Amino acid sequence: MTKERNHVVHDGNCARVCPICGSANSRMVRTIEGSYLGIDNDHTIIEHISICNDCGFIFAAPTLAEDEFNSYYNDTLPTFEAHESYSVPKRLKVLSDYIDDTKLIAEIGGNAQGEFKEALMSRCRKYYSFDVNQTANNNSDEEDIPVVDVLCCYFVMEHIVNINEFIDKWSEHLKDDGIFVVEVPDLNVYYRETNPLCLTEHVNHFTPESLSLLMLKHGYETVGFSRFDCSRTFGFVSVFRKTGARSENPAADRLKLAAVLDGFRLTDGLAAVDEQMLKLNEFAERVDSQMKQPGRKVLLWCANDMMREFLDAYEKRFGTFSGLIIDEDKRKADYYRSYKAHTSADAENAKMLEGITDIYIFSDIRLRVESVCRTIKERKLQKADICYISQRWDIIKTDTD
Ligand SMILES: [Zn+2]
Repeated sequence: MTKERNHVVHDGNCARVCPICGSANSRMVRTIEGSYLGIDNDHTIIEHISICNDCGFIFAAPTLAEDEFNSYYNDTLPTFEAHESYSVPKRLKVLSDYIDDTKLIAEIGGNAQGEFKEALMSRCRKYYSFDVNQTANNNSDEEDIPVVDVLCCYFVMEHIVNINEFIDKWSEHLKDDGIFVVEVPDLNVYYRETNPLCLTEHVNHFTPESLSLLMLKHGYETVGFSRFDCSRTFGFVSVFRKTGARSENPAADRLKLAAVLDGFRLTDGLAAVDEQMLKLNEFAERVDSQMKQPGRKVLLWCANDMMREFLDAYEKRFGTFSGLIIDEDKRKADYYRSYKAHTSADAENAKMLEGITDIYIFSDIRLRVESVCRTIKERKLQKADICYISQRWDIIKTDTD
């Protein structure tokens, strides 16, 4: 006999003060409905998004009671794991400064996270995980978690109604001077990543500044921040040290925090530049290994700054580039003269392409590559490899048709 499914509409009416400044003075700006499939029931959660009139924090108010959220999570979380995706290397990179085989680490909300959990277990003295959800696997009981050196919490805090109690409770499990690593969705990128906003179980909408202010209230200083190193594209990671020093002048602290976070933003930009250079060099290596194969010829499309950058990197390591560079714009015929590369301004010159080129590399997917590909196919050069490169030197697609 099948149990009857119900459609449960959760529209909370629990008043909620601003978790950061404690003000009861907030204005509701929008109501969003989200529907979710549970194991036993279908759920609709109605979220009322409000802005604190005193500090600007954005949070759900009024909202559901914690009990109602818990019964919803117990029905829906077991179905959630299938679409989990995050970068394990990024999480480990951030943690690597703080862990070694003498350290104890506890993950809050670490519901049976395979590869990440294994990696932590081999890098620390002991790894504990705790999830409030009763259906979570491999859980430690809260009272079994001792005082640890490092706490980490990935994409959990945006779900917690009683966030101040949550931080207080877990602070008791962290040693003085211990490290608390937190990842949450970033309000700053909601304009392009709407999921965290549309997921109506989210009751806190953080910016790097508001999370730092919240943590400062509980005696934590911000010692790290990155979007680049966050394990998901729509969030940020912040690293806090438990100092015990709480904010006495939130307005002044907010200004100080903004400056600290700006410094970390520059670090992020520089890390992205470094990564780009690494990829460019890997790409140059790849092209060179293709060119070294007997009879293989490489063609670069087109004559732009990106390909100039590529030639600089290539010629520094491998000497003169012996492939072809093609551009439709005849004015660019001599664009690469100083690089001693072969340049043609006429892609439609069939003799130029036919039979002499095996690998085509397009430096920008926005170019009119379709017409070029058609030309290649019409010339019956199907055996040629085609490769698209993004502006950050990612190989977007290779195509051996
Ligand atoms: Zn407030």
